[in-house]
This record gives sequence, C-alpha cells and structure tokens, in this order.
Amino acid sequence: MDTSDHTRAALAPVTTTIERLFPTLSAQHVERIAAHGKRLSVRPGDILLDASAALSRMFVVVTGRIEIVRSAEGAETLVAELGPGQFTGEISLLSGRRSFVRIRATAQGEIVEIDREHSLGLLQTDAELGPILMRAFILRRVELIARGLGDVVLLGSDHCAATLRIREFLSRNGHPFTYVDLDHEPALQETLDRFHVTLADVPVLICRGDAFLRNPTNQEIAECLGFNQGIDTDKVRDLVVVGAGPSGLAAAVYGASEGLDVLVLESTAPGGQAAASSKIENYLGFPTGISGQELAARAYNQAQKFGAQVMIAEGATELSCQRRPFAVELENGQRLPARTVIIATGAAYRKLPLDNLAQFEGAGVYYFATHMESALCRNEEVIVVGGGNGAGQAAVFLAESAARVHVLVRGSGLAESMSRYLIRRIEDHPRIVLHTGAEITALEGDGHLAHVRFKDRAGAEERHPVRHVFLMTGAEPNSQWLKGCIALDAKGFIKTGPDLTRDDLAVAGWPLARPPHLLETSLPGVFAVGDVRANSMKRVASAVGEGSSAVALVHQVLRS
Ligand SMILES: Cc1cc2nc3c(=O)[nH]c(=O)nc-3n(C[C@H](O)[C@H](O)[C@H](O)COP(=O)(O)OP(=O)(O)OC[C@H]3O[C@@H](n4cnc5c(N)ncnc54)[C@H](O)[C@@H]3O)c2cc1C
Repeated sequence: MDTSDHTRAALAPVTTTIERLFPTLSAQHVERIAAHGKRLSVRPGDILLDASAALSRMFVVVTGRIEIVRSAEGAETLVAELGPGQFTGEISLLSGRRSFVRIRATAQGEIVEIDREHSLGLLQTDAELGPILMRAFILRRVELIARGLGDVVLLGSDHCAATLRIREFLSRNGHPFTYVDLDHEPALQETLDRFHVTLADVPVLICRGDAFLRNPTNQEIAECLGFNQGIDTDKVRDLVVVGAGPSGLAAAVYGASEGLDVLVLESTAPGGQAAASSKIENYLGFPTGISGQELAARAYNQAQKFGAQVMIAEGATELSCQRRPFAVELENGQRLPARTVIIATGAAYRKLPLDNLAQFEGAGVYYFATHMESALCRNEEVIVVGGGNGAGQAAVFLAESAARVHVLVRGSGLAESMSRYLIRRIEDHPRIVLHTGAEITALEGDGHLAHVRFKDRAGAEERHPVRHVFLMTGAEPNSQWLKGCIALDAKGFIKTGPDLTRDDLAVAGWPLARPPHLLETSLPGVFAVGDVRANSMKRVASAVGEGSSAVALVHQVLRS
C-alpha cells in the first residue's frame, strides 16, 4: 500500500494517518540531524537493529530504503518501509527499553545513526525538530497500543481480579499487548489444559514470545519486559523521587529539565491516584477535561524526554536516616544513593473490603462529590459512606439534586466525628436518611453499579436499587515505609516546613542553624510533596505545584 512517496506500511493505521506516523523531513532537517550522528553505508539485508536489543539509537534514511518488521513465533510482519527523509524510533527510545521490531536495509544507500543520548539532546534542544520527532514517537506508540502490536499476550478472564491488575499495569505503563479472554476462547483453554495450565495459573502472560509467566507479579512482568533495564542503581543521584503520581512526575520534569540527575521510583505504574480518575475537569488548561491516565502518560513521557529515569514496579521500603548521601532501599534489598530525596508517595483512599469494588470505581463508586458526580445521580438514590465532615458536606451537597441520600456510618451516631452544623443539616433534611451501625456487604451490577446490599443496626441485610456510592472514609498516607525516620502528624502525614514544631525538630535532631524550607521534612535535604504531606490540598494541581516548587528548594540544598 503506497500512501506516500516513500512509506509502505503493511497495515493502515487505526489512530492517525501514515503521514503523521512517518513524516518526511526536509533535506535541511536531515543535514541538521546528521551533525548529531554518524553516516553509515548500507546494503540490502543489513540489520540495523534487532528486536529485543535495547532501543538505543534511531536512524534517518538519507538515500535508499529500510524496513521495520515485527517478528513473532518465527514469522515476520512488515510494519513499514521508509525512504529518504524518514526516521525510525518510538517512545522506548526515551528510556532505552527493548525494541519491539527489527530494522533492516532493503536497498543500498546511506543512513544516519543517532545514539540515544544525542536523540534526547535533539528532543530537548531543537525547537523545530524536537516536536516533529516527539509527536511521531508518541503516535507510533499509540498505534501499537491500538493494534495490540506488542511483545506480550495476556490470557485471562474478564471475571478475574488478577487479569484486571495485569491489564491495568500494562495499560498504565503504556505497553502494547494482546488480550485473550479465555471465557470466549474454549479452544485455547483446551490447549492450555494440554500444557497443564490450570485455572489457578490464570492469568498467563506470554512475554516476548518465549517466557510463559503464570499469574505473574507486576515486578516479574517489569523484569521480563525490561522496564528497568539500563538504570544504574549504584550512581549517586542529585535527586531520587519516590512515587510517580502527579507530584512526583512534576518533580521529575522540573528536576530533569533543570539539569539534575533524577531517578524516580514507582511501586506500581506512573499516574498515582490521578490515573484512577476517568476525567479530571479542574486541572488548569484542559477546559474539556483530561483523563488521569492521559495526563500521567504525557507527564511520564515529558519526564523521560528531559532525561529522568523511572523505575517501575519498585517500591521504596526504607529511607536511611543518616546524612547525605541518603539511601533509598528497595524491596529487593538494593540501596539507591541520593544527594536529595523528594517523597511523593501520596495517599490511598480507604476502600471497602469488597472483592469487586475496583470493578465499579468510576462506574458507580466515587471518592469525590463535585458538580460532575452530582449531575450523574440527579433524581436518583445515592449512598454516602462515612461520618466525617467530608461525608457530611457530600451528603448535604448531593441532597440538592438526588432523590434520596442514605448516609451510612459504622458508629452509633455522628456526634463524635462531624461538625454540629452539618449534623443539624443532615437531621433536618427531608431527603437524607441516616443509617447508624451500618456497612455495605455487597455491590452488584453488570458494568455499572445497579444494586447495593447493606445492613444497619437492625442487623437484617437489605438490597437497594442504588447506582451511586460515595466513599468518604478518608485517605491514609503512604508513609509506613519511612518507619519513624521522619516526623509525621498523628494521622501519618509527613510534616514539613512551618508545620514542624521545635519539639519535632529536637526529637529529629535537626542539625542546621536555618529552619526547614517550606516543603522540607525533619531531615534536611529530604522533601515531601502532594497528598502524603500534612495539610496538603489533595488535588492534582496542588500536587503538581508542590512537586515543581520542591525542585527549587532542592537546588538550594545542593548548592549549600
Ligand atoms: C478516583 C479519584 C479521582 C480524583 N479526581 C480528582 C480530580 O478530578 N481533580 C483533582 O484535583 N484531584 C482528583 N483526585 C485527587 C488527586 O488524584 C490527588 O490529589 C493526586 O493524585 C495526588 O498526587 P500525589 O502525586 O501526591 O499522590 P498519588 O497520586 O497518590 O501518587 C503517589 C504515587 O506513589 C506511589 N507509591 C506509593 N508508595 C510508594 C513507595 N513506597 N515506593 C514507590 N512508590 C510509591 C503510588 O503507587 C503512586 O503512584 C482524585 C483522586 C481519586 C482517587
């Protein structure tokens, strides 16, 4: 299929046009790029890059042709054939992860090879070429994801939580994969039976065509796919950021773009809680909203573009309390040395102990009660779980538009946990019903929440046709891993700057004449940002603001 002068692609793209996926650079552009690489003479059949090698370089065709092929199970599929002015590369080039494809010359000619370091340099500094390259890399990854053209096949079931976990892990890491629902492929199940793959082994992940992983952990998947390959763990970094939610990614973008050597650790996948939001409507600059996952993917690419490295599925388990360089310890016992540390581990909203809760998050189960959610449940019955002020405000707010609001509290009343004015409003409101000693026992629905079972003080379980549940039971900070190394408030949030009292600093042995900087913890050179920080605003914008502000303070500490 010849769609442009040069490009031949085996398959029509589903997300964009061939021209956008494989743009043709002008002769001047090619010359400019050539100054950053080396010229190679190639003959037909020469392999420029093999699949599974690290994607450590890109190629620009000066004369001749090259082809990009995907090889799986011994067979090759043509992805595209490129001619003069066209270039290879995709998002894996930013991190140096393994390539999905083989690149081969199909005609005699001249190629410019640019290594990863110089490619990153071009992306960062060339205002004209950088955006052309970056846009093509992103669009190519989007296309691979849309086609499921990766190096992973997941065999699982839509009814299995582990399958959902792995699908989420791969999606949130922007890794293309093919998913096969075994419930709809009985023939495949028979094949698995022959290989003694039992129901207990499902989901099964076929990684890079050779490894057969049975119900793998996220760490095992990251290892098999080489997510963290090439990251030097011995090097003393200017800055180690723990957590890749909005605050941690902001710190990585600002730190790396300002010349710091930044390593980010993320226990699952980039995005944090924000990735759980189907649409963030209140983030500045996105008047029609943006999904949390998209925002996170953009920030993740941006951080890598500036040279920040991100370790995936590697959680911090300890922070050494000795003075600089600090050491952040990982689950596998490795210790990452750092001159400064930003803690951005966020908070986890308290969840109900119900197996299928995740299935309804965003589809009937919410952690926020804004105008957006209230519009969804206009004239319907809703449940608000929780006895704090947040739950009280949500109940009163939702009662303005909902048909009825059931407030469920575990205790015998609201007096101990809620402000008096809110209790009065709840008691006086004709459409709010308070259930004490109450708890939800089951959520039911197909796709969207349809029924909720709960029991209250009376003890009998009732089934209600409720399609919306608001969980307002508070958030718990992810600070347990600090193990007393840093001053926390009574709820476990990290105290910083002016929140640290004289006593806190005395107990922590604060060694400096100056007081802690605004976002600095009781350990000089260690900062806390976003939801894990005491008195933070618990919003995406404030998390991003704190992450970027902390970098300015990191510079001050590094200079001192
Ligand atoms: C469903 C939902 C919808 C939301 N909608 C909105 C909205 O519309 N607008 C808005 O402004 N806010 C919204 N929020 C709140 C917003 O998402 C948070 O305020 C924001 O994500 C906080 O960012 P953060 O980086 O501080 O922490 P988080 O987003 O919590 O990120 C912390 C990251 O650290 C990682 N981590 C934790 N422990 C470790 C460890 N030991 N080692 C390594 N990594 C670790 C976690 O895996 C996570 O990725 C929503 C929250 C939820 C749950």
